Amino acid sequence: MAPKKENKKKESVKVWKREQGWDKLSKKELAELDAYCREYVDFITFAKTERLAHDRGLEMAIAAGFQNLDEIPEGKLLKPGTKVYRSCHGKTLFLAQIGKQPLEKGLIMVGAHIDSPRLDAKPNPICQDDSIAYIDTHYYGGIKKYQWYTLPLAIYGVVFKRNGERVDIAIGDKPDDPVFNISDLLPHLDHDRPNQPLSKVFNGEALNVIIASRPVDKEDDCKEVSEKTKLRVLKYLEKKYGIEEEDFASAEIEIVPAGSARFMGLDRSMVLGYGQDDRVCAFGTVKGIVDAQGIPNRTRAAVICDKEEIGSYGSTGMDSTFIENSVAELVARTCKSYSEIAVRRALENSMMLSSDVNSLHDPLFADVSSPHNMAKINCGIVLTKYTGARGKGGSSDANAEFMSQVRTIFNNAGVVWQVGELGKVDVGGGGTIAHLLARYGMDVVDCGVGLLSMHAPHEIAGTLDIYMAYRAYKAFYEAD
Ligand code: MN
Ligand code: MN
Repeated sequence: MAPKKENKKKESVKVWKREQGWDKLSKKELAELDAYCREYVDFITFAKTERLAHDRGLEMAIAAGFQNLDEIPEGKLLKPGTKVYRSCHGKTLFLAQIGKQPLEKGLIMVGAHIDSPRLDAKPNPICQDDSIAYIDTHYYGGIKKYQWYTLPLAIYGVVFKRNGERVDIAIGDKPDDPVFNISDLLPHLDHDRPNQPLSKVFNGEALNVIIASRPVDKEDDCKEVSEKTKLRVLKYLEKKYGIEEEDFASAEIEIVPAGSARFMGLDRSMVLGYGQDDRVCAFGTVKGIVDAQGIPNRTRAAVICDKEEIGSYGSTGMDSTFIENSVAELVARTCKSYSEIAVRRALENSMMLSSDVNSLHDPLFADVSSPHNMAKINCGIVLTKYTGARGKGGSSDANAEFMSQVRTIFNNAGVVWQVGELGKVDVGGGGTIAHLLARYGMDVVDCGVGLLSMHAPHEIAGTLDIYMAYRAYKAFYEAD
C-alpha cells in the first residue's frame, strides 16, 4: 500500500500589487466620485490664485458652521464640537473643530498649500518695445519657462491705490474677456535655437506678457509720454479701475493660464487644469474637515497655506509662527488657564498629513522614474514617506510607526492608497511643508494626489485619486 499522500496546502504569498482602484469602489462610491470631481473642477476653475482659493475655502467652512475665532469673546471657553477659523492675511487659512480631549493631547491635522507656480508682475511692470506693450514678470515657483509661451493667459490681482483703496482685478476668464500671451518664434526662423540648451533659449527675463499693441488715440495723446501703446494701457487702467502707474508698487498681480479646468480623456478618468499642485489636496483638506462626522476626541485642524512653492517663507508661509499661534489661541480658548507647555505638548502630540501632490510614473519619461516605487495614475492617494533630493537631502522622513497608523486608518476606511517616491534616486526630490511641522516633534507624512506634468500650466490628475484624497483626509479626521 502506498503511503497516504500528504495533502499539502499551498502556502499563499501576499503580493502587493499596484492596480487601479475602480473595481474596489461600489456604485454609490463611483457616483460620489463623479459628484466630488465636478465640484472640484469648479473649485480650481475659480481658485486661480492663493487668495481666491483661501476665499472659496473660507466660504465652504462658513457654510459648514465655522466661526471667526477673533470674533468670539475671549472669556468664552470653546466647547467640544465648536468649529472655528483663523485667516492669515487672506492667503492662509486655519480651520479647527474642538475635540473632547484637552488640546495637550495633540491635534489631528491635514495641511495643503494653495499657491501655485505662475508669473508675477514686477513692481514696475508696464513696458513697451516697438509698438507692443508688455507686463514684465518675475516667475513664481519652479516653472519650465518654455511651457508658458503661446498660451492664453489671464491676469488676477489686487492693487492698492494712493488713497489705500483696494481694487481687485480679474481679466481673462469671463467669456467676453480678452486674454494675454507670450509670443514665441516661428519655426521658419528658429534654426539656431534648437541646438542651444533650453536654459539659454528661454530665460526668465524674457517672459514678457503682451497686453496691448495699439497706440493711444490722438485726442488722448500727451507729449510727456513717448511710448504711445503704454500710454493707452495707462489711460485704460485709469478709466476702468482708477489706477495710476505708481499703484503697481503696492500690488500683487499674478498671470496664470486662462480658461476652465476640464475632465480629460474619453473615459473622463482625469482632470486637466491649472494649479492642481496643490489645490487638489487643499480642496480635499477643506472638504474632509467640513464633512468629517461627529465630535472628535482630539481637536481636528486643517490648514491651507501660501508660499510653499517658494520655500514657505514670509508671514503667510508655513515657516512663520501662524500654526503655532493658532494652536496657542486654541489652548487659550479651551483651557481655564493658559500655559506655554500646553501649547508645546499640543504641537508635539499632534499627527499630521502634509497633503501635497507627488509625481506619477509617466511612461513617456520612464528614464527618470522608479516604476515600482512611483505612484501610478488612479491607483489611489499617494503616501510619500520621504521626498528629499539625492540621498533624501532636506526630507522629513516619516516614522514607520506613524506610517503604520495611517495605513491602518486608510485600510479600515476603504481608502485606495499607494506609496510613491519622487523619481529615480539620483534624479528626483522635492520639498513640502512636512518638515516645517515635523520640527515641533509631531508625526507628519506627505500624503496627496499624484500628478502628470506637475508644475506645468495645465496639470493632469486622475479622478479616482482626486476623490481618494478627500476620502483619506476625512478618514484621518474621523479615526480619533
Ligand atoms: Mn506642492
Ligand atoms: Mn509644487
